[in-house]
Amino acid sequence: MDDQNPLAMTHLAQLQQLRENNPFPEAGGEDSAILRELASIERPLLQTLLQECSYAASDVLFREGDPGNAMYIILAGQVVVIKGSFDAPTVLGYRGPGEIIGEMALLENAPRSASVIAMENLRLLRVNHEDFQVLLNNRPGIGRKIMAVLSARLRNTGNALDSSTQTRRQLTQQVSQLHTEKEHLLEMQRVRQETSDLIVHDLRNPLGVLYAVLDVLKMVLPEDVLNANQELLNIAEDARDRMKRLIDSMLDVARMEGGATALNIKPTDLNRLIEQIAKFSQLNTQRRQVTLRIAIPQPLPLILLDEAKIERVLANLTDNALKYTPQGGEIYISAILEASQVQVSVTDTGPGIPEGERQRIFERFAQVQGDHAARRRGFGLGLAFCKLAIEAHGGTIWVEPGPGEIGSRFTFTLPLNSA
Ligand code: ADP
Repeated sequence: MDDQNPLAMTHLAQLQQLRENNPFPEAGGEDSAILRELASIERPLLQTLLQECSYAASDVLFREGDPGNAMYIILAGQVVVIKGSFDAPTVLGYRGPGEIIGEMALLENAPRSASVIAMENLRLLRVNHEDFQVLLNNRPGIGRKIMAVLSARLRNTGNALDSSTQTRRQLTQQVSQLHTEKEHLLEMQRVRQETSDLIVHDLRNPLGVLYAVLDVLKMVLPEDVLNANQELLNIAEDARDRMKRLIDSMLDVARMEGGATALNIKPTDLNRLIEQIAKFSQLNTQRRQVTLRIAIPQPLPLILLDEAKIERVLANLTDNALKYTPQGGEIYISAILEASQVQVSVTDTGPGIPEGERQRIFERFAQVQGDHAARRRGFGLGLAFCKLAIEAHGGTIWVEPGPGEIGSRFTFTLPLNSA
């Protein structure tokens, strides 16, 4: 434990506020490569290398300028990485479960380039510089691999900087050659489309690997280890599923906009689908301390629909409600039967959507301008997918304020057809 605790809780609250206002950075891909190498070390040796430790919220793990003497793997809780004084810090990023901090200390005792502070109570695994040096001496093979990953990580950071500067320079040249504003916009749209097509293509394979590896892990890990790490697994599975939904939506939006709306229609139990979504969201509702309720006053009959697509519509709307609803808020999923249709609503107590934006947000890449939208990252694709999917079923989707003009209520209809 660090015995310094100079960070008043008010500063921590300010940092929390900063996090709310900043997009949350993604986990570095190389973190998993380091973890993979560590996981390949046999248990007894690994146990001499890894020490479990814990910190309380607002503890300082290390300060900028301190000698780098250990690397940490986060098991539970969040940290903030800052530069500069604690009174007016520059936030470099946040790290959470499954991520690594201070890894360069394994290579050298150089001073820390930033400070790291616990945002919440933390559970960590610590790898000391000295212990790692002993490992390097005794088991050069393992050490060499980890060193290779660490230096690749350094090189990647350098390359990413180089290539982004280079790409930026090329793009600036090209853009300056475009004369009219219309040409400029069309070009931007094309580049964005090409980029997203590439991303989708490149993401599908690693995602498949992720599904397989997580499943294998669940099969091979001893039960007590699984139970002790259930939260980490849940987080990984939840993130993996969200990523799959995003990729599927990107593909579906492109297909449906291109006129292909092949639906896989079969009689579906919408009651069960809604309950399933609520169940899958349980982890997030608990984590965000939000209440989720379902109201289906009259059981719904089987409806002819594309189950996978409507499930994703429901998941996107519930995910958004969760993203935008503050702690202590409520989400309410309801479904009512009308003469010739069923009407499903997802209502939240978030910031709501300004009147002028209520149609636009259903367009591809559209996001609400202004304060609250800046808080969350996203691609503005979820609602575009929902609209295309619902309209392909012959329904409509819209948004209005929730009861008492609080929050948002997203509603879609699906025609009732004899199933
Ligand atoms: P994103 O991935 O950006 O969330 P969506 O298409 O799902 O994309 O949503 C588009 C935009 O609509 C969001 O960026 C946000 O500005 C706004 N939005 C969506 N759902 C909500 C909500 N429940 N409350 C407030 N704003 C919302």
